[in-house]
Amino acid sequence: TATPGAHAPASARSAQLFDRASAVIPGGVNSPVRAFGSVGGTPRFIASARGCTLTDVDGNDYVDLICSWGPMILGHAHPAVVDAVQRAATGGLSFGAPTESEIELAETIVDRVASVEKVRLVNSGTEATMSAVRLARGFTGRTKIVKFAGCYHGHVDALLAEAGSGLATFGLPTSPGVTGAQSSDTLVLPYNDLAAVEQAFAAHPGEIACVITEAAAGNMGAVPPLPGFNEGLRRLCTDHGALLIMDEVMTGFRVSRSGWYGLDGVAGDLTTFGKVMSGGLPAAAFGGRADVMNHLAPAGPVYQAGTLSGNPVAVAAGLASLKAADQSVYDALERNAATLGTLLGDALHAAGVRHQVQFAGTMVSVFFADRPVTNYAEAKASDTWRYPAFFHTLLSRGVYAPPSAFEAWFVSAALDDAAFDRIAQAVPAAAAAAA
Ligand code: PLP
Repeated sequence: TATPGAHAPASARSAQLFDRASAVIPGGVNSPVRAFGSVGGTPRFIASARGCTLTDVDGNDYVDLICSWGPMILGHAHPAVVDAVQRAATGGLSFGAPTESEIELAETIVDRVASVEKVRLVNSGTEATMSAVRLARGFTGRTKIVKFAGCYHGHVDALLAEAGSGLATFGLPTSPGVTGAQSSDTLVLPYNDLAAVEQAFAAHPGEIACVITEAAAGNMGAVPPLPGFNEGLRRLCTDHGALLIMDEVMTGFRVSRSGWYGLDGVAGDLTTFGKVMSGGLPAAAFGGRADVMNHLAPAGPVYQAGTLSGNPVAVAAGLASLKAADQSVYDALERNAATLGTLLGDALHAAGVRHQVQFAGTMVSVFFADRPVTNYAEAKASDTWRYPAFFHTLLSRGVYAPPSAFEAWFVSAALDDAAFDRIAQAVPAAAAAAA
């Protein structure tokens, strides 16, 4: 059982498991940023989670400010979601044939995001963006794509250039194994720079199939689009016959019930979803204009498929999560993000540490910088060396923040007064350690 506040000796069992994992799993983890690579120390192995609390294998508990990198807006093990998963599992785990609940999830997405007329379910955000890019190329008959430095769209070969997230954490510009042929049609431009996009269209007339952007960037830390940026992308794509792909894997159904689209109303021709829409199980989606989506097999010639796509258990988790996320949940997310931001900002201010607390909707980030961060170059130029001490001081006081200076912090609606008390007690020490 958890021992609140007991954090020493914190990590003997986690350390043992990390050694054991490292013998059979590269780097000991199944996704790089989990390894604490840029902050050092022993990654905590989690035994269970409930509400806003994670409990590790040494019996320590933590206020969770990662939320599985976004999905868990309701908190962990929400009773309605667990119940839906159990009921679905009892009825069979996978059929490889269509089910009614897939329609319901597709209808829910189409109903909430007006720019999406048709949607296809896949298994991960990576698959969603990979398929959306293929579809954009198939639909337009063009090859080049535009992405922005610091935006992460999963580990799709053509999208790994200057991709933020784990690559930023480990200082990688791209990945070995991505061939020149795979990346040579990818134009990487600075985020929030419309002039660069205009120049790219001028330099490659009739060649750009799509522009893919995070609807609001969360993978270089939380960096919202500047006013007019998304609208400008929309206009330029329309003017030049390219498709706009809004990647809402992170923002979708988190920053509002209709995602970032619900905040700025800029319609992608295609939109990608993941995380929240599957309630913590592996499912994701891409969707958009019916005339574009109808190019997908079997309606059209662009091929895309998946053995486990629309998996009934994952779909049940997603449907139950979206149903449970009523307006009171979104109100709580807003409140909790604002409270977290205030606690972080006040403590850093008191400690005299230069900082920016930034929001992209209800995603939060701390940058150790004098000015608001608007792109990847500015994010990388911040005092990221301050982050490991900041992070470990929080962790040792029972607050689980992202183990990377380049990741957004995610709140849940389950954060309660006790959680905020613990955060409030931890952040002054963390700010002092970062000074
Ligand atoms: N797109 C964005 C904006 C993301 O944040 C992520 C993951 O963090 C992905 C795509 C990839 O999703 P997945 O990790 O499910 O493959």
